[in-house]
Amino acid sequence: MTEPDAQLTFDWGLPAPAPRPAPAAPAPRLDPAGASAPSPQPDTRSDSPTDAAASPLLDLPGAGPAALPPGTDLALGGSGFVPTLPPTTLPAGARWREVATPAQTIGFVLLRSKRRTIGFLITDDGLRVTAPRWVGLGEIDEAVRGKASWILSRLRTWQERQQRVAMHRARWEDGGELPYLGQTIRFRVGGDRRHFAGDALAPQAGDTLWLGLPSGADGNRIRDTVQAWLQGQARAIIQTRLDHFLQRTGLAITQWRLSSARTRWGSCTSQGHIMLNWRLVHFAVDVIDYVIAHELAHLREMNHGPGFWTEVGHILPGYEQARQTLRQHDPASLPSFT
Ligand SMILES: [Zn+2]
Repeated sequence: MTEPDAQLTFDWGLPAPAPRPAPAAPAPRLDPAGASAPSPQPDTRSDSPTDAAASPLLDLPGAGPAALPPGTDLALGGSGFVPTLPPTTLPAGARWREVATPAQTIGFVLLRSKRRTIGFLITDDGLRVTAPRWVGLGEIDEAVRGKASWILSRLRTWQERQQRVAMHRARWEDGGELPYLGQTIRFRVGGDRRHFAGDALAPQAGDTLWLGLPSGADGNRIRDTVQAWLQGQARAIIQTRLDHFLQRTGLAITQWRLSSARTRWGSCTSQGHIMLNWRLVHFAVDVIDYVIAHELAHLREMNHGPGFWTEVGHILPGYEQARQTLRQHDPASLPSFT
C-alpha cells in the first residue's frame, strides 16, 4: 500500500519526550521533602496556560515559550499524553481522584489502608495509590505530583503493553468491525465490488463496507483494502471540510497532505503547509473539524497561547467538546494496521 507522505520528514522531528527514566525516583513514601519537590517536565508543556491539565497537545522543546517549531503539533499519544481514565468498577472502599501535574492530569484509584507510607502501584486499571487514613488529600495529591514523571513513565510502559494486546485483537477477517466517522461499521468480503452499503458520509452503526474481495482473502489483504478505503475517505472528507473552513474564514494555505504520523493528529508550518492524519477518519466529523480548525488557527497564531484558542473559537465556535473527545481518547483503542 503506498503511503503518499510517509517520507515527509518535517513531521517526524518529535524528540520523544516521554519514555525517559525518571531521575532517581525516591521510594514512594510520605516524605515532606520528596513530596513537595517539584517534578520538572522540561520536555512537555501544556498547550495553554489556562488549561494546564490533561492535554495531549504537546508543545515541543527547542522553541521559546510561545513559539512552535515548524511542523509540530497535535500529539496523538504514544510519546506524550497517557490517558488515565477511571476503571469501570472501583475496588471496594476506593475512590477516583485526579491531580493536575505540569505534564498532564493524572487520574488514579485511591485506597486507604493501615500502611504507614503512600504506595504507588500500576495495575491493569492504571495507577493505584494506597495511603494511610490519616494523610490528607492535599498531601496525597502533592505526593502524586512529586512522583509524576516516574508515574507517567510507568503508565506509558503499561499503555504500550495494552497497545500490543489490542493489536493482537485486531481482527482482519470477514465480519470485522472498525470505527469510522464515529460509528462502528462492519467490513465484509464477498460482493462483486468494493462499496459502502449506506451513506459513507453519514454512516450508521452496523453499516457494511463491502470490500469486493474473494471470500478466501487473507487477513493482510483485507487489512490493506480496508486501509486504502479509509484513506480515500479521509482524503475526500478532509478536503471537503478544509474547503469549507477556508472559504468561510478567508484563510489560505499553501498545501495540505494526509499524514500517517504515529503520534500526531496534525501539524502546520509557518509556510502554510498543513498535514492531517488519515486516522482522523475514525472520528466523528466534529472532531475532524476541530483538528482542521486547530491547524488553520496556527496560520495566525504559531503557538498555543490564549490568542490561539480565541482564533480556534472564531473558526469553529464550540470546539471544546470535540477537543475533549479527542484528548480523552485512548489511541490504543484504534485498530492497528501493522
Ligand atoms: Zn497546535
